[in-house]
Amino acid sequence: MTDYLIVGLGFYGCVLAERIANVLNKKVLIIDQRDHIGGNCFSKVDRETGIEYHVYGTHIFHTSNLKVWEYINKFTEFNNYRHQVLSKHKKKIYQMPINLETINSLFNKNFSPKEASAFLKKITKKYKRNSYKNFEDKAKSQIGDKLYSAFIKNYTKKQWKKDPKFLPSSIFNRLPIRLSYNEDYYEQTQWQGIPKNGYTDIFRNLLKNKNIKVALNKKYSLNFKIRPKYLTIYTGALDKLLDYKFGKLDWRSLNFKKKIVNVKDYQGTSVINYPDLNKKYTRIHEPKHLHPEREVFKKEKTLIIEEYPSNNINEPYYPINDEKNRNLHRKYKEYLNKRKKFAFGGRLADYAYYDMDMTISAALKKFEKIKSEL
Ligand code: UDP
Repeated sequence: MTDYLIVGLGFYGCVLAERIANVLNKKVLIIDQRDHIGGNCFSKVDRETGIEYHVYGTHIFHTSNLKVWEYINKFTEFNNYRHQVLSKHKKKIYQMPINLETINSLFNKNFSPKEASAFLKKITKKYKRNSYKNFEDKAKSQIGDKLYSAFIKNYTKKQWKKDPKFLPSSIFNRLPIRLSYNEDYYEQTQWQGIPKNGYTDIFRNLLKNKNIKVALNKKYSLNFKIRPKYLTIYTGALDKLLDYKFGKLDWRSLNFKKKIVNVKDYQGTSVINYPDLNKKYTRIHEPKHLHPEREVFKKEKTLIIEEYPSNNINEPYYPINDEKNRNLHRKYKEYLNKRKKFAFGGRLADYAYYDMDMTISAALKKFEKIKSEL
């Protein structure tokens, strides 16, 4: 008999497994329906090029949470990678997030920060309100119509397959706007990098304890035959677990198309966004750039990966966090909260747009709760 059963081998599940096994010295069985560990953070080496890539899209570890940073550094070292993003609009490359260079290039100006601020104030005046109910209103109130139409509107339409008028304004809050030439994507974040040995290696290290048993290709359902002594911790989508009994939660998903190109460097950076409707993909990733410290970086071959938004609900990525879905999620939560010896959490179960550090932080907090209740 196992003490704890954890469903899902992503960060939430693996951090809890590690804490329970190492700190509480209890037995954990952790399962996943996929054939690999790491959830959507899984990374692997492409055979032909030797380049490591993130199978579910480029993941940049970034955090300002000291607890999380100290914790994760026990399981990996990070390289010095600093994330930068560019955006290709009408055959020209611009810097992202929108900064002074983006504004000056698009409007063909040489504004100083003060002039740019006055300019933005002028072009956003007619969009200012006391509160913003949707993505588009919020975006226009911050950057005006021209910047919004060039870099945000169609990218968002492609990504979410929804008119931005029907998306929550909170998604726009993920995007910083800067009036300097600083192009560091996570300027405000204290620490960032890519794990030197890749993401999958972190998970191997988290699971390295004889108290932890890993089972892949194992589906979980509420009548799963193994009952743990203390608790089941489920990290998948709640609607699926309950056979959609109250209805389906909406998600956006992604598909990736890999290509090998016989040049040393295809695009000169790890991610370029494609905000125009003439391309069906939203980004092209070139994972080589995540590890400039590796030997393989110098090779005359590179791997590129096109990212296409999709509706595939079997591989959910992004919650569509509008009111309808939030209410539905609450219904599932309330229902499952009544279940004995059962807990849930993480990006899928919480139906939340978590970054990796937020997921780890949530798992560490959950562990404290589990420990106190033991
Ligand atoms: N977004 C956009 N243009 C861009 C980048 C992002 O319109 O060039 C919008 C889009 O709606 C996206 C959201 O901002 O879903 C959040 O972007 P982020 O890059 O944080 O998404 P993630 O990396 O989590 O996919």
